[in-house]
Amino acid sequence: MENIDKASATLKSPDEIGESAKEILSKRRFFISFEGALAELFCKYALARNRIINTYYPFLGALGLLLFIFADRLILPQIADEIIKIRLIGAVFIIFLVFAFAKSSSTNALRTYRSHQLGLCIGTLMIHFILLRIGVIAASQGEYHYQNGTTIAVIFLCNVLRVDFRYILPTVLIMWISHIYVTSELLNAGESQIIEQLFIYSLIAFISCLVNARMEHEVRKTFLQGIVLSAEQEQLEQAKNRLQQLSISDELTGLFNRRGFSQFFSQKWSHAIRYQTPLTMLMIDIDYFKQYNDNLGHPEGDEALRQVANILHHRARRPDDLCARWGGEEFVMLLPQTNIEAGRQLAENLRNLIWCENIFHPRGIENRLTISIGIATLTPKPDDTMTQFLEQADKALYKAKAAGRNCISANAQEDLEHAGSTKPN
Ligand code: GH3
Ligand code: MG
Ligand code: MG
Repeated sequence: MENIDKASATLKSPDEIGESAKEILSKRRFFISFEGALAELFCKYALARNRIINTYYPFLGALGLLLFIFADRLILPQIADEIIKIRLIGAVFIIFLVFAFAKSSSTNALRTYRSHQLGLCIGTLMIHFILLRIGVIAASQGEYHYQNGTTIAVIFLCNVLRVDFRYILPTVLIMWISHIYVTSELLNAGESQIIEQLFIYSLIAFISCLVNARMEHEVRKTFLQGIVLSAEQEQLEQAKNRLQQLSISDELTGLFNRRGFSQFFSQKWSHAIRYQTPLTMLMIDIDYFKQYNDNLGHPEGDEALRQVANILHHRARRPDDLCARWGGEEFVMLLPQTNIEAGRQLAENLRNLIWCENIFHPRGIENRLTISIGIATLTPKPDDTMTQFLEQADKALYKAKAAGRNCISANAQEDLEHAGSTKPN
C-alpha cells in the first residue's frame, strides 16, 4: 500500500496538504492509504460521508435477520422456534452493539472512524456466526439452503456497509475459514454439496472483496481530488487577493494608487452625504521636483518620494483617513469627519515635518525639499460631485504654488499662508 511520508504527520497548511494529495494521486496506485494530517482529514470525510450507513444500516442487518422468521415457519416449522430464538438473540445483540459503538464516538476523528469500522465488522461477524449456527441446525433436518444465508452477510459487509478494505480483509478471512470449517466438518452433507457450497461462497467472498476494494479506491481518490481542488481554490483566492491588492497600491511608495483611492473615496463620499459630515481633502505636491531629479538623479528622486510618502502615511493616523499617491510627485489625503481648521492644522504639521526632515534639494527653498498643499473642505450634498471636490483641492494647490511654494492654501477662506523662505513653525 502507498504511504505518504512521515512528514505528512506535521503538515499544516492547505498548500502542503494539497501537494501531498496531488503526489499520491499522481502515483496511480490501486490501494491508497494516508498518514498524518491527510489520515485525520480522510477520517472526518468518511465519517461525514458514511453517517447514515454507520447509524442506520446496522439496523438493516438486524431486520434482515428477523425477516427470515417467515421463511423458518414455512421451511422448517418443526424447529422454527429454536431458530427464531437464535435470530432474536442475534438481533438484540446487534442493536446493543450499535448503541455501544455510537457512545464510543469521540472528538478524535481517527479513533471514532476506527471504532465505527470495528463495530460494523463485529456486528457482521455476529450475523455470520448466527447464520452458520442456523445452517447447522437446518442441515440436521436435511435442509442445506440455509447455509447460503452466510453469503448475504459477506455481501452486506463488503458492498452495503462498505467497510474500509483494511478491515474487510481480516473479517472476510475469518468468515471464509469458519464457513469452510462448518460446511466440511459439521454439516454431514454430501461431497458435491460441500464442493458447491465452497465454490459459491469463495467466489462471492472474492467478488465482494474486489468490489469493495474498487469502491474504497474511488472514495479515497474522490477525497484526494477534493483536497487538491480546495487547495487550488485557496491558492487562486490568495492570488486574486494579491492581485487585487497590487491593483490598488502604488509600487514605489506602498500607498494606495489612484484606483485604490477612488474606490475608498466613493465609499467615504456616500457616507458623508448620508450623515452630512465634513470631508477634507489635502492635495500635496513636492516643490521643484523636476529639478530635484535633474540635479540628483532619478533613483534619488524615488527615494525622496518614498520618504515623503512615509511621513504622510504615518500622519494619516485615524483609521478612516486615506492617503494615496495621486501620480508623479503628487499625493492626496482624504480626511473624513474633519473640518477646515483640523485640515489646516494637519497640513501645517505635514509641511513642518517635511521641512524638518531636511531632505537636501540643491534648488529648493533653503536647499531643502518642500511641499505645497491645497485644502478643500466640503459637507457634500447629493448634487455635489467628487470631481468638483477634487478640482477645488487642485485649485487650492495651484494657489499655494503660485504663492511661492512651501505654502498651504485652503479653498474655504481663499487665504494663503506663505512660509516663504522662512522656516515654518
Ligand atoms: P512644482 O514645484 O511646480 O510642482 O514643480 P515640479 O518640478 O515639482 O513639477 P513638474 O510637474 O514640472 O515635475 C514633476 C516631476 O516629478 C517630473 C518628474 O521627473 C518627477 N516624477 C514624477 N514621477 C516620478 C517618479 O516616480 N520618480 C521620480 N524620481 N520622479 C518622478
Ligand atoms: Mg511638483
Ligand atoms: Mg505636480
